[in-house]
Amino acid sequence: MIETILAVNQGLKNRFPTGFDPFMIMTRLMEEGGELAQQVNLFEDRGTKREKMGEPKKSALADEVKGVLLAAFQIAEYYDAMPELEQSLESMRQRLKDDGFLE
Ligand SMILES: [Mg+2]
Repeated sequence: MIETILAVNQGLKNRFPTGFDPFMIMTRLMEEGGELAQQVNLFEDRGTKREKMGEPKKSALADEVKGVLLAAFQIAEYYDAMPELEQSLESMRQRLKDDGFLE
């Protein structure tokens, strides 16, 4: 999945070469976070009216998760922090493993 995220982000950068300064990325991240919250509200039947939005759809939820992931990865890539991201994730996994929460 990570390779797909990186490939999609590379394609987006090729397509929109001026759209990747950190403020633009953060704006997208916040926007996508809001859209994800809207989907969660829909699934939880709170906040957003069902009559307006229709029934919750996993595909719509997944689209917003995708938006958040892409933008968050864009920030890590912008600051050349992908190795640190990998290390941070691996450290967390190892800690959970050491504490008996993962095999
Ligand atoms: Mg979105």
